[in-house]
Amino acid sequence: MALPRVAVAALGGTICMAPDVQSDGVMPKLSAQQLLDAIPNLGAVAQLEAQTLRQLPSPSLSFDDLLEVLRWADEQVAQGAAGVVVTQGTDTLEESAFLLDLYWPHPQPLVLTGAMRAAEAVSADGPANLRAAVTVAADAGSRTRGVLVVMNDTIHAARWVQKTHALAVDAFTSPGAGPAGAMVEGTPHYFHAPGQRTTLAQPRDAGMRVALLESCLGDDGELLDLAVKAGYQGSVIAAFGVGHVSFAMAKRIGTLAPAYPVVIASRTGAGSTTERTYGFEGSEIDLRRRGAILAGWLGPRKARLLLWALLAAGSATEEIRKAFASFGRMRNL
Ligand code: ASP
Repeated sequence: MALPRVAVAALGGTICMAPDVQSDGVMPKLSAQQLLDAIPNLGAVAQLEAQTLRQLPSPSLSFDDLLEVLRWADEQVAQGAAGVVVTQGTDTLEESAFLLDLYWPHPQPLVLTGAMRAAEAVSADGPANLRAAVTVAADAGSRTRGVLVVMNDTIHAARWVQKTHALAVDAFTSPGAGPAGAMVEGTPHYFHAPGQRTTLAQPRDAGMRVALLESCLGDDGELLDLAVKAGYQGSVIAAFGVGHVSFAMAKRIGTLAPAYPVVIASRTGAGSTTERTYGFEGSEIDLRRRGAILAGWLGPRKARLLLWALLAAGSATEEIRKAFASFGRMRNL
């Protein structure tokens, strides 16, 4: 039987980085084909096609870059790919995965991976991660799960995955939900059946800007007004605990929302915002009354991407509220 076809695109990141004399550090250098060539016997897993779309450090990837990835990946599926793999830097990998997942309607898996150690490091993790990602992309059990992240022999759903360590090889976890699966003897094992997924219409206007502001001790909330003045079309507040802000920030939110979309997510890194527990000024109950939208289980970075995607699709405030009510709950497990 013919092997499944898997298309692999490289965007840059540590996985393709090698020492660079001019900068004194490692820099993106290797192409997608070179990454594949470093893995023995990968041709026994899938028929491979490689494309280098970018050679960027992931902090400088843009919405336009990712929309191009999406078009490329759509094309691969249209041409018969059983799955698609994208390699990129780990710094923004969780954000790319979530954004692509919002737009990925196909049953074929779109799998993201990267590396914590550069290509020439002793025990570089890139080749093992890429091998596992290709295997996951080629596996029928990965279908209808949307966008997956494969790192350190662990499979994560885009909905939950986060980079939770700056340096460790097991930097990626899915706080609050746990991983979707694991690699065992080179085969993906999933812990749950695929869940229900909803995808969004592709953006009409990729030039939207959504600010992400973190609540902190002594917060006077002025940054929110500055974001509005600077032309950001919406703001996400990485709020305290279950969705709390200072008195000063609560007042500013009250003057802006609901005409201006303000989404409240938890800055804690795990768990959900609440809706009806605390009643003080700046609490979730107060912020809801003032017109803010609660992000539920979506952390601040993912809430920002969902708000961006909704604004980019031309959604009005009520649609935004409804979308957060459904995406922010336990969907897509
Ligand atoms: N440290 C990053 C990485 O793991 C650099 C980047 O995100 O491009 O790839």
